[in-house]
Amino acid sequence: MSARVLDGTRLAATLRDELHPRVAAFTAAHGRPPGLALVLIGDDPASHVYVGSKRRQGADAGFRVDIHEHPDTMPLEDALALVATLNADPGIDGILVQSPLPAGMGPEAARRVFDAIDPAKDVDGFTAENVGRLVQNRPGLVACTPAGVIELLVRSDVRIAGAHAVVIGRSDIVGKPMAMLLLHRHATVTIAHSRTPDLPALAATADILVAAIGRPGFVTPAFVKPGACVVDVGINRLTREADVVEFFGAASPRLASFRARGSTLVGDVHPAVADVAGAITPVPGGVGPLTIAMLMRNTLQAAEWRVSQG
Ligand code: NAD
Repeated sequence: MSARVLDGTRLAATLRDELHPRVAAFTAAHGRPPGLALVLIGDDPASHVYVGSKRRQGADAGFRVDIHEHPDTMPLEDALALVATLNADPGIDGILVQSPLPAGMGPEAARRVFDAIDPAKDVDGFTAENVGRLVQNRPGLVACTPAGVIELLVRSDVRIAGAHAVVIGRSDIVGKPMAMLLLHRHATVTIAHSRTPDLPALAATADILVAAIGRPGFVTPAFVKPGACVVDVGINRLTREADVVEFFGAASPRLASFRARGSTLVGDVHPAVADVAGAITPVPGGVGPLTIAMLMRNTLQAAEWRVSQG
């Protein structure tokens, strides 16, 4: 058996198409486009790539996108002052501070910076206000990655109500909001993590299995009930050819692309799972593209809500 592939790239394009008329209507009605501020502190290479994609897609969607780039020596107080300025800027509807923040800013930096963002502009859905709204199933801005997963499941006709969903990973940005969103759609939800005993046996009871761990190929066929829907949130970079061969086999076309680029992205789900699962999200091309598409949707939503509240 080979699983149905849930194509996140294609759905992301559909979501972008759906935004265009709403962005045009907003811009015509208010004399300005929705505004997104991207804050990038430090020189993490992956963060630069992510912020570049967000800038491009925001501009393509018709948004105003401002990038605030700062060195990793930026004091925390300056970052907080920047957030305060963006909070007060009437042309900015969404503020995204790219994670991770530089270690030199201190262990509390991320929490303090995210807490400083006006919840009405918190397009990542990380503030306590928006997390609380999510838990209570009230309208609010929801973390983009899990929101994208739900969009993919719903539009792929994966049955959520009544299903047993196992979410592996309990982070604030993926695992926990993912579990809440599945619960609100009437799944029976189990959150598993690094201290869950006998994880493969538990995972193999899932109708929907979400892997958000950050370990290449962690989820093997032993974790998967035949026919289950497997969502692979993980993004891991392999840089050693031996690892690529072990992951995909020596005959895989991935080897050629690895040799051309020097690295390749893989998920938390081992490729052999495709022989057991009923549906699966690929990496790349699954959850990743949806995250940015949902960021755009959140920004437009934030803009619409802000103007409607005067
Ligand atoms: P995280 O490190 O904050 O959390 C990882 C979670 O995995 C933890 O809750 C931990 O308990 C669990 N875990 C770790 N080892 C485990 C083990 N041996 N057994 C069971 N559980 C274990 O990571 P995160 O920010 O939630 O990200 C998870 C993965 O998703 C990463 O690969 C990240 O790159 C990726 N990610 C992808 C997107 C996207 O757009 N597709 C967005 C965010 C994160």
